[in-house]
Amino acid sequence: GQDLRLARISSAIRVIRDFPKPGILFQDITTLLLDTKAFKDTIDLFVERYKDKEISVVAGVEARGFIFGPPIALAIGAKFVPLRKPKKLPGKVISEEYSLEYGTDKIEMHVGAVEAGERALIIDDLIATGGTLGAAIRLLERVGVHVVECACVIELPELKGRERLGEKPLFVLVSGE
Ligand code: AMP
Repeated sequence: GQDLRLARISSAIRVIRDFPKPGILFQDITTLLLDTKAFKDTIDLFVERYKDKEISVVAGVEARGFIFGPPIALAIGAKFVPLRKPKKLPGKVISEEYSLEYGTDKIEMHVGAVEAGERALIIDDLIATGGTLGAAIRLLERVGVHVVECACVIELPELKGRERLGEKPLFVLVSGE
């Protein structure tokens, strides 16, 4: 059943203390990718949820949204659009800023990658404060795309990232701390 799949996914994620800096419990999904069953279950659970939602675009957040997004996009018949860190995309871009603990960061998307009226799923590996996904939502909505939902493998509920997404639904598979 579903609970067994989720338990296997959860235990395949390695937690590394004090990476990349002291005090951070890093959720390492590279070990999930090594477990062929858990990796497939991860993709299948997203595909089961989104296959009949008329999603035309899966937007993946750099970098780990580029791992989970494309197999989901292929399975549901949607295109894949990378949302990248600044100065990585060669064409004309639109960008959206978001605040970090210290300072700000940005994500960018190619102009023309999506059209007004399209229905999008935004995917990343993990939601912490929700700053990244919040910026991704604003970026797509600025060009008239309807963001159906955001999806992550892992949520860190203590950081209350959901609250930064406003009314936008968030679907996650497992919780971390
Ligand atoms: P946030 O914008 O605060 O929700 O942070 C989410 C982004 O930072 C995602 O792209 C994650 O990959 C990364 N991230 C934040 N915290 C962690 C963590 N504890 N373990 C792994 N990745 C993290």
